[in-house]
Formats: sequence, C-alpha cells, structure tokens
Amino acid sequence: LASRDFHPENTVIQIGDVKIGGGELVVMGGPCAVESPEQIDEIARLVKAAGGQVLRGGAFKPRTGPYSFQGVGVEGLIMMAEAGKKHGLLTITEVMTPEYVDICAEYADILQIGTRNMQNFDLLRKLGACGRPVLLKRGFSATYDELLNAAEYILAGGNPDVMLCERGIRTFEPYTRNTLDLAAIPALQSLSHLPVISDPSHGTGRRELVEPMAKASVAAGADGLIVEMHTDPDNSMTGDGVQSLFPDQFAGLLRDLEQLAPIV
Ligand code: PEP
Ligand code: MN
Repeated sequence: LASRDFHPENTVIQIGDVKIGGGELVVMGGPCAVESPEQIDEIARLVKAAGGQVLRGGAFKPRTGPYSFQGVGVEGLIMMAEAGKKHGLLTITEVMTPEYVDICAEYADILQIGTRNMQNFDLLRKLGACGRPVLLKRGFSATYDELLNAAEYILAGGNPDVMLCERGIRTFEPYTRNTLDLAAIPALQSLSHLPVISDPSHGTGRRELVEPMAKASVAAGADGLIVEMHTDPDNSMTGDGVQSLFPDQFAGLLRDLEQLAPIV
C-alpha cells in the first residue's frame, strides 16, 4: 500500500486547512519536550508568528537512559492542545506505547512515532485505527525498505494518512549526532506516494547545522520540516537544547525558506 506502483498520485493529507504533500511546504516547530503551560504557550505564539503550521512537543519522551527526564505525561498533552488551539496551530506529539494511543489521539492532531519505535509492530498496528495522521520516523538503523514496511503496518490497519520522516541515521561520524540522509527524501518519494518530512534537528544534533540542512532538505524536495525551537535552549529539560534553534533563528529560517518553497 505504501508503494508508488500501487498508488501513482501523491498522497495529500488534509488536516483543517493545512495540506501535507500537496506541493506546499509544511513547517512543524516547537520544543523537544513540553515543560510547562507558559513554555509551550510562548513557543506556540512564536511558531505561529514565524509562519509555522504545526506545534511539536513531546509529552512522553523516549530517553536513552531510564534516569533522564521522561516527559510530563498526560498533563503535557493538555497544555499543548490548549496552546495549539489558542494560537491556531495543529499539534504533533510522540506516542510510545499502544496503551497511550487513544489519549494522544484525543489531544493531538498528528501522532509521531519515534525512531526507537519504528518497528514496534504492536504500536504500529494500533495506529491503523487511531483516526489521526501519523508521522513515522525512520529507525536510526533502518533501510528505506524497512521504513516502508513499517508504514505498511499502519496503512494495512486502515489508516491512509502516513508521513515518512528522515531524522538521521547512525554512521561512523561522531561530530554529528546522526547523519541526515538527504538522499532518502527523493528516494522515498520515488518509491512511495507518502509525504516525506525532514528533521534536521535530530538529523544533525547541532544548532548551527539545522538551518543549512533544513534548506538542503527543501531543495531535495521535502514536503515538510520538523524543527526543534526553544525560548531557553540552554535550560531545556532534555539534552536537545544543543540542537534547538532560538526563536529568531527559527523565524529567519522560515523567511529564507519562502524563497525556496511556498509555505502553506
Ligand atoms: C523527538 O522528536 O524529540 C524525538 C525523540 O525524535 P527521534 O525519535 O527522531 O529521536
Ligand atoms: Mn528531541
């Protein structure tokens, strides 16, 4: 079902008045993690003012170590839904376990599957009937074929609204957190009709590389971007402050991107 052979036309996912995959760039911005009502409200205001369409933020965080901050949980879903509604943004949040799919689907407009869960097949099956579009991140060691097979689980479960996300893969290079595989963008678009979103934040792990790789992703044909932005990145509650843009950098990036691709 994910294959272009089966479905030659691009899939366009319409949520409210935002179309993803329809030729116009969609920008999702926000913090790695929802931290407080004030934090997410202020960041939502800045994402909207910069011209973004979707507010990102994790309420449940898949941390590498068990002692790291795990997210604020259901309270975070509520804070983010309020901020999104107030500022006129759609919302996207990560769901980590099948038990939480229904509650995340109740509060968020788009569900995100993280790199570590790309092959969590019970979770993928549950998303087939969640009633929300899904952004499926590529596993950090997954091939294109494995990513497309993971998408297939969601599609086969009855949900046609799947976006593929390139977020960097593990290579031998330690300077960057991951290696953003730009070729994945046109390659996945030729193999599949599903929209392809690029995540230059996790794809590089370094703030100064986010802007050039965001632009390169758009030049390579990405249907959208998901970018971390924080008002106080040095004090963010996850380690991802080092890859989070400052609000003025985020706004500047979106201004520059208008030259490359129309923003919805
Ligand atoms: C995130 O988007 O904050 C995240 C945890 O992403 P990934 O699953 O790509 O590491
Ligand atoms: Mn993050």
